[in-house]
Amino acid sequence: MSHETEIVNRLRNELADFSKRAFYRGLVGGTGGNMSVRIPGTDQVLITPTGVSLGDVEPDINLLVKLDGTIIENPPGQRPSKETSFHLAVYQLRPDAGAIAHVHPPYATAYSNKGRSLPLVTVSSRAVLKDVPCVECAVPGSKELCDFVGGGIRRHPDVRAMLMKEHGILTLGQDLKTAYYLADLVEDTAKIAFIAANIQTDDGGPS
Ligand SMILES: [Zn+2]
Repeated sequence: MSHETEIVNRLRNELADFSKRAFYRGLVGGTGGNMSVRIPGTDQVLITPTGVSLGDVEPDINLLVKLDGTIIENPPGQRPSKETSFHLAVYQLRPDAGAIAHVHPPYATAYSNKGRSLPLVTVSSRAVLKDVPCVECAVPGSKELCDFVGGGIRRHPDVRAMLMKEHGILTLGQDLKTAYYLADLVEDTAKIAFIAANIQTDDGGPS
């Protein structure tokens, strides 16, 4: 087996592992969400297929696509995620992005409906995330959504996580583990923000 094939196979396994972790951690339900990873040093990306729950992603059903959208390896019966286009836009704009997680976690998605940055209510969220801006919503898979995501990346060049209004979140990291942990942190931060906002102070008013 060539060195390149070995790398692709390792990443196929990692993509399946972190997809399952995202699903069982409750970061996404149904067949929503998608994750992808760049093959280092190439213009190629592995991405989860459409219509398959992240909880059911197996290494051999992930698709290999080029940054220009050309499908290189299309396992039988699988089509790329509807949201492939915004993943590819992010990889093109951010050469440091090695992996992307796009999921629909309940608390963070609820905050996205406000159309504002996520309240970073903990020291660790401020240290790691700096700012989690919100980008406008559009139909999943549409060119508009791709433009909104690309616009968010351009306006916030160092961003590691974004809210997608009335839709979900997107995180990017140097590898799948980082993208996954960022998504995990975004959701935990949103949950803590929600709880903190609902804790009554001594005088009976919201804190
Ligand atoms: Zn989505």
